Amino acid sequence: MTGRAGHTVSDTPQPWNCPTGHRLGHVARAGRIRRLFLYRQADEPRDVIAALTGNARIVCSVCRQEREWDVAAEALQELLERRQNSFLDPLDSDAASVIA
Ligand SMILES: [Zn+2]
Repeated sequence: MTGRAGHTVSDTPQPWNCPTGHRLGHVARAGRIRRLFLYRQADEPRDVIAALTGNARIVCSVCRQEREWDVAAEALQELLERRQNSFLDPLDSDAASVIA
């Protein structure tokens, strides 16, 4: 099975870090639903304890800083980043297809 047109870069998991840069989890998409796959310990991607949708307040296991997971805010952030990336790399057809 190969990807068809319409398969976008948003299917690639995105790192989700605490305010000081520890990796708390990653964001991945299933259909139109975006979920945060939360690690039990920061920077330990092999140990996922939860797949979150909606809103949650996550505390970093290393530095105790908090970050708010908000699925709607993440969607907007991703769109803005993708838009910037498409300016930087106009040859990235995946990025362009998301905006279209
Ligand atoms: Zn941290």
